[in-house]
Amino acid sequence: MKYKTIAVIGLGQFGTTIAKMLASMNHEVLGVDINPEIVQKVSPYVTHAIVADTTDEEAIKALALSQFDIVIVAIGDNIQANLMTSMLLKEMNMPHVVSKAENALQGKMLKKMGVDMVIYPEYDVAQRLAQSLTREHVMDY
Ligand code: ATP
Repeated sequence: MKYKTIAVIGLGQFGTTIAKMLASMNHEVLGVDINPEIVQKVSPYVTHAIVADTTDEEAIKALALSQFDIVIVAIGDNIQANLMTSMLLKEMNMPHVVSKAENALQGKMLKKMGVDMVIYPEYDVAQRLAQSLTREHVMDY
């Protein structure tokens, strides 16, 4: 497997989990969050961890992400911050931006901005669970 350089912006539950998972698979992972306490907590598990407000154009440019293969925007509740960060990344011509959306409208906006992959973690898990629970060979108990 070719190891990748991946930045994870927003280290909430989802962002932290994926950042740790990718780092444990030996990928180079940069974790970014606006909250210094969160950055400090995640820091031992990733390659680098940086405090930054990624809605600030200067701050996101200072992260020097141009060499990264993938950037994951895992900012959740703050939809405005998620959209602004994703838009700035596409403006910076990042080739592979993955963004987490809270709802379908946000997902549409992200797609319009050119985000390469939109994910809906809660919806995706619920859909997979519903499908697996109702497959015919699953015992009813
Ligand atoms: P989860 O369910 O995965 O915890 P969440 O929806 O609760 O996600 P949020 O708490 O909204 O996610 O955001 C995730 C992280 O994004 C938080 O740790 C927050 O500090 C960080 N964050 C929010 N705004 C910014 C920003 N402008 N720049 C960088 N990080 C940010």
